[in-house]
Amino acid sequence: MKSHYDLVIIGGGMVGASLVCALLPVAKKFSLTIALIEQQPIPTQEGQPFQPSYDARSTALAYGVKSFYQATGVWDRLQEHLTPIEHIHVSDKGRFGVTRLHAKDEGVSALGYVVENHWLGQVLLDHIQQDKQGCVDLICPASVKAVSPSSELTQLKVEHQQAEYDVTAELVILADGGRSGLRQALGIHFNEQSYYQHALVANISVDRPHQGIAYERFTERGPMALLPSETLNGEVRCGLVWTLPDEEIGALLSLTDAEFLAELQQTFGYRAGRFTRVGQRYHYPLKLTLAEEQVRSGLVVLGNAAHALHPIAGQGYNLALRGVTDLAENIIVSRQQGISIGDLSRLHAYEQQRRLDQQRTIMFSDRTMRLFSNANPLLGLGRSIGLQAMDLSPMAKTLFARSAMGLDSPALKHP
Ligand SMILES: Cc1cc2nc3c(=O)[nH]c(=O)nc-3n(C[C@H](O)[C@H](O)[C@H](O)COP(=O)(O)OP(=O)(O)OC[C@H]3O[C@@H](n4cnc5c(N)ncnc54)[C@H](O)[C@@H]3O)c2cc1C
Repeated sequence: MKSHYDLVIIGGGMVGASLVCALLPVAKKFSLTIALIEQQPIPTQEGQPFQPSYDARSTALAYGVKSFYQATGVWDRLQEHLTPIEHIHVSDKGRFGVTRLHAKDEGVSALGYVVENHWLGQVLLDHIQQDKQGCVDLICPASVKAVSPSSELTQLKVEHQQAEYDVTAELVILADGGRSGLRQALGIHFNEQSYYQHALVANISVDRPHQGIAYERFTERGPMALLPSETLNGEVRCGLVWTLPDEEIGALLSLTDAEFLAELQQTFGYRAGRFTRVGQRYHYPLKLTLAEEQVRSGLVVLGNAAHALHPIAGQGYNLALRGVTDLAENIIVSRQQGISIGDLSRLHAYEQQRRLDQQRTIMFSDRTMRLFSNANPLLGLGRSIGLQAMDLSPMAKTLFARSAMGLDSPALKHP
């Protein structure tokens, strides 16, 4: 570990690691020294092929993410274990409205992709570790204990191998997740609003091919998403994200697998086939969180530390990646212009750019959740008419698809 880096990223999750990958292609050209500090040990897989796991959690990536990962040079490897979403089927259980989106109609090869978080993490960290330019130090397992930003250099206290180190940086990125202790220690306020809901997440086996269909199904018990996933040992798998009121989650978790499958089948119906197996059930309390302050001199708050969304529209990580793109561009332009990468006026410009996108995405996820979690029969009728009208209007569907696919946001462009 050096005592000074231009850039220190705290948190080697999907967001922190993506920022390093975004900067790697230009790090040498702009003489950028980067430290990525992650507190969890990275599982070593030396020479071992990737093993998909039945119990792994997955993320739906917007189609626009492809150009980001192509520019960073990881796309070819990533796609070895990606499942393309070729169709999206949105429906309201027990009502007539249905909207169907097809990649072919939108002129793209896929509407999005489903990836196991574990695979995405491995591809990103392998890419960083295999870099031979010597610009990046991956410091792991190591924990950042304190951060003191200033207009000069930001100071950090890092615990690594039972010793404490003082490190300075021009710019520090807090990408340490939704429960960021450092955000709290820095007195960064955030708005938090509970949805009084939990997301139940699990892999489900189905008795027929999923044909690349992602289902978004609104039921009286809450919205459900069923995402097409990689077939494992001949078993067709789908990733379930089931949103439930807080008071119902305990009962569903306590069911045996067979009881849970019966309950799921009864609630979802048979549109995707017969559910035959369920993996480990994870659950998350759902909140809308937005940091009021996302930049200070020498400091940026990124990813889940900056915002957490309702997972209904699968937008959280996609929004974070657009933040990564803008931040990488901001850092590169500052470097080109000979300005410190921690310069507050430059970081304010980045923040302004992000706020608009964050507000738009939060509003989309939040409104969709409220509309589809409401049992009011009049709203239900309005939903059905809306879905039916959208199904009949190619223009409305294309606009919806473009925003859901992340095609409205710019891809990473390196000068
Ligand atoms: C149920 C559910 C489903 C979702 N589905 C989707 C989806 O389909 N599509 C989508 O776009 N988004 C989805 N999301 C959102 C997505 O999961 C998040 O946006 C993403 O995980 C955020 O990653 P992150 O890197 O910011 O945070 P994290 O993944 O939490 O990473 C933070 C990292 O920082 C490390 N760390 C913490 N403190 C320190 C410290 N002091 N020092 C060093 N390291 C530290 C941690 O060990 C961790 O590795 C979903 C979220 C939920 C809850």
